[in-house]
Amino acid sequence: MLDRARAALPEKTLTFERFETPAIESFLQGNKTIVRNFDVILQKIRRPPEMLARYFSKELAIPASVEGSKLVLNGKFYDRNLKEKLQAFVDAAVVCKECKRPDTKITEREGIKTLVCEACGARAPVKI
Ligand SMILES: [Zn+2]
Repeated sequence: MLDRARAALPEKTLTFERFETPAIESFLQGNKTIVRNFDVILQKIRRPPEMLARYFSKELAIPASVEGSKLVLNGKFYDRNLKEKLQAFVDAAVVCKECKRPDTKITEREGIKTLVCEACGARAPVKI
């Protein structure tokens, strides 16, 4: 009886739509790596450019700067390395720990950052 009820549920309620981390499009310019779709990434993850630039700078241990719609990294990096870092950022500071949705914002109080989910209300400390 229960089994039949479950089977009758539309598939949509059972499958889970995971937030897809945006792809990184970068190219080398001398000793620098330019992320040309930085603005698109920011739009998808809804975080300020400085926050993500600071994160990359810290993670890669190199200076990073925002130039218009691009991110400039002082070093040579591959898309896949940058994507790994971005994935870690998304897991730590974008996607809700409870419902896994990206509809979140970060609040900061006395230097402590908290990820607040606008979909389910969950709160979690941000450790980056
Ligand atoms: Zn949530």
